[in-house]
Amino acid sequence: MADHGSTSADIIVAGQQRPGRGPTLPSLNPATGRVAAQVTTASVEDVDEAVAGGEAAMRDPAWRDLLPHERARLLHRAGQLLQEESESIARLQTQDNGKPITETRALVASAAGTFRYVAAALETLDEALPTARGPYLSMSVYEPIGPVAAITPWNSPIASEAQKAAPALAAGNAVLIKPAEWSPLAALRLGEVLLRAGIPPGLVSVLPGSGPVVGEALVRHPGIRKVSFTGGTTTGRRIGAIAAEKMMPVSLELGGKSPTIVLPDADLDLAVRGVLFGIFSSQGQACVAGSRLFVHRSVHDEFVARIVEAAERLVIGDPTAEGTHMGPLISDSHRTKVESYVHLAADEGGRIRTGGGRPSGGALSDGYYYLPTVITGLDPASRVCQEEIFGPVLVALPYDDEAELTALANATPYGLACGIWSRDYRRAWRLARRVEAGTVWINTYKQLSVATPFGGVKDSGLGREKGREGIRAFMSQKGIYWGL
Ligand code: NAD
Repeated sequence: MADHGSTSADIIVAGQQRPGRGPTLPSLNPATGRVAAQVTTASVEDVDEAVAGGEAAMRDPAWRDLLPHERARLLHRAGQLLQEESESIARLQTQDNGKPITETRALVASAAGTFRYVAAALETLDEALPTARGPYLSMSVYEPIGPVAAITPWNSPIASEAQKAAPALAAGNAVLIKPAEWSPLAALRLGEVLLRAGIPPGLVSVLPGSGPVVGEALVRHPGIRKVSFTGGTTTGRRIGAIAAEKMMPVSLELGGKSPTIVLPDADLDLAVRGVLFGIFSSQGQACVAGSRLFVHRSVHDEFVARIVEAAERLVIGDPTAEGTHMGPLISDSHRTKVESYVHLAADEGGRIRTGGGRPSGGALSDGYYYLPTVITGLDPASRVCQEEIFGPVLVALPYDDEAELTALANATPYGLACGIWSRDYRRAWRLARRVEAGTVWINTYKQLSVATPFGGVKDSGLGREKGREGIRAFMSQKGIYWGL
C-alpha cells in the first residue's frame, strides 16, 4: 500500500499555479491513515482574484469570439490529455480517496469521455434561425452565463469536476472549481490539464478549501453568475437559498436513498450482481447507491441469503490491488458516522445479517475500512431506511404487491435513482414510470452515459447535467430584434 508520493500543493488562481493564502491541509491516504500530500487552500482574497481573472478572461475577445469548433478543439485536447495520463491520475485518486483502482480508472475515462462528447456536441449546437415578422426580424442567441462556480463532493473526483467544467467552458465561461476538502488532488490535476490543453489561463481556477469559507465565498460573490453544485442535500439547500437572494441560476445534484427492486420473475443471478454492485461499489459512497432493497416476499429470503453470501465473498483491502472490490471509507469520521447508523439499526429492531463492523486486524487496521453490511427486519419508516448513510449498508425489505411496492419505493424525501430487475418488460416499464427518480436502471445499475440527462427530483436536486442540454444550462438566451 505504498503512497503514490507527494503532489503539487499549489492551487490555481485564474490560471496561475501558486500556493493558496489559506491554511495548508494534509491530504490523507484513507488506506493507511498517513499524510500523502500537503495542499494549500484558497483564501477569500484568492477567491476574489480568481473571479476577477475569470471575468477579465470572459471579456477578452480572443476567447469570446472564438468559433465553436476552435473552442471544441481545445476541449478535445483536454480529453486526450486526460486519457494519456489516465493511469497516473487514477493512482493519485485511489491514494487520495480510497476507491479501488478499477473504479478510479473508470472515473478518469468518464472525465475524458465528457470532454470529447462536449467538444463534439458543441460543434453542432445550432443557434435559432432569424424569423421575419412583418415590420421586424427577430432572433435568439446563446451567450455564456458565467463566471461559473463548480462545487464538488469527494466521492467521484475528476468525473464530477469534468461534468461541470467541460460544458461550462464549452459555453464560453470561466469556471472556478471548488473541490471537496477530502479529495482535492484530482481536481488540481484536471486544472493543470486544462491549462496545458490551451484553455486561456484566466478561465481556469481550482480553489481547494473549506466549504463554509471558500465554497460559500464563491456562492455569495457578486461576480459568480451560476453555481453548479454536487453534494449533500443540507448544503444544497443552503446554496439554493443564497442563489435565490442573488437571483442566480443554480443546479443542485444532491443526496439519495435509492431503491433497488427485485420482482418475482427476475433473473436472480443478474439481480444479485446488480444489487451488490449498486450498494457496495465505491464502499457505498455514491449518490446513486442502491441502499434500500425491496424483494418480493416469495423470493425475499432466498435472495437475501444469496446477497449475504455474495457480500461475504467481496475482497476488501488495498485499493491499489487489481482484485480489490472494496477499499476504505474516505475518513475515520465518516466511518464513525456509518457505524453509528448500524448501531441505530440494531436499536430500531434490525437484524445485522452480515458485516456490522470493521475488518479485524492485519494490514487493514490502519485504514478506514468497514465491512459490507446487510440488515433485515427494519420498519421502512425507520431512520436507517430513510436517511442517506453514504456507506456500505444495505437494508432489505419484503413487499407483497406492486401498489405497496410503489408506495414504499417513493416513501423517502429523496428521488435520485432506482434499479428494477424483472424479465417482464411491461411491469418493469410501468414501475419505471411510477417511481420518483431522476434515473431508472432496468436489469442493470450505475451505468451512466454522457449523453443522457442526470439529476434528481424531490430532495435529490434541481436541474440536469449531461447531454446537449447540459451545455445549454451554462448559457443565457438573448432575443434580438431588427426593425425592417
Ligand atoms: P457536502 O455537501 O458536505 O460537500 C460538497 C461540497 O460543498 C464540498 O466541496 C464542500 O466543501 C462544499 N460546501 C460545504 N458547505 C458549503 C457551503 N456552505 N457553501 C458552499 N460550499 C459548501 O457533501 P460531501 O460530503 O462532500 O459529499 C457527499 C454528498 O454528496 C452525499 O450526500 C451524496 O449523495 C452527494 N452526491 C450527489 C451526487 C449527485 O450527482 N446527485 C453525486 C455525488 C455525491
